[in-house]
Amino acid sequence: MLQIEQVSKQYHGDPILKEVSLDIREGERVVIIGPSGSGKSTLLRCMAGLEPIDGGQILYNGQDVGVSRHVRAEIGMVFQSFDLFQHLNAIQNIMLAPKVVRREKEHEVRARAVQLLERVRLKDRAEHYPEQLSGGQQQRIAIARALAMNPKLMLFDEPTSALDPEMTAEVLDVISDLARDGMTVVIVTHEMEFARRVGDRIIFMDQGKVVEDLPSSQMEEAGKHPRLAQFLNQIT
Ligand code: ATP
Ligand code: MG
Repeated sequence: MLQIEQVSKQYHGDPILKEVSLDIREGERVVIIGPSGSGKSTLLRCMAGLEPIDGGQILYNGQDVGVSRHVRAEIGMVFQSFDLFQHLNAIQNIMLAPKVVRREKEHEVRARAVQLLERVRLKDRAEHYPEQLSGGQQQRIAIARALAMNPKLMLFDEPTSALDPEMTAEVLDVISDLARDGMTVVIVTHEMEFARRVGDRIIFMDQGKVVEDLPSSQMEEAGKHPRLAQFLNQIT
């Protein structure tokens, strides 16, 4: 589904991604972990076509994500800092892109937004503005907003790192539901229990490279990979 081939990326001459190659297959649940500054967010932004790359290529079903707007629309992204539009209420946030970008009919967009609110378990919060919602609720609205464009691939960049444990669970449950329903999911997270339970595959990044790429069932054998073992010890 998504082929990342020898991707390099620099900021001001500093190499941030160093010939990263990764294949995301349809229906897969991929978890990316790694120390701060290792390039996880940069890689995700490149995967979403939000950031130009300096070498290699990223293909979504054979098409370059950096070139095609049509392709980028198939990829949804959720960030650490929910960044909802503050002047719009929950349902308006969800409806905005389909209405403005896709010019879909108001009543169709609204009907789908209501379904999405249900899916993220916030049907009773449709008219609430972001400042009237908890962090976990805002993040679930942000997920619904991304889903409103009917993406085939969802990218999550530390979606729960700004949340306390209770809200973290609510958001991870919604992501688990999506994964169970067959959505292709790539998630950067330090929630290792979630990673093992929901992820098929764990990617460990360090200093701009993919250092390990293993089935989540083999996490217990992390001791064989010294850098990974050291990292896991730090975060757990
Ligand atoms: P964290 O776990 O802290 O979120 P990360 O693995 O997501 O870290 P990135 O945000 O991808 O790391 O950053 C990788 C490197 O690229 C860092 O050294 C960072 O300072 C640098 N970097 C990221 N974005 C920019 C930018 N817009 N301009 C310059 N340097 C950047
Ligand atoms: Mg990051």
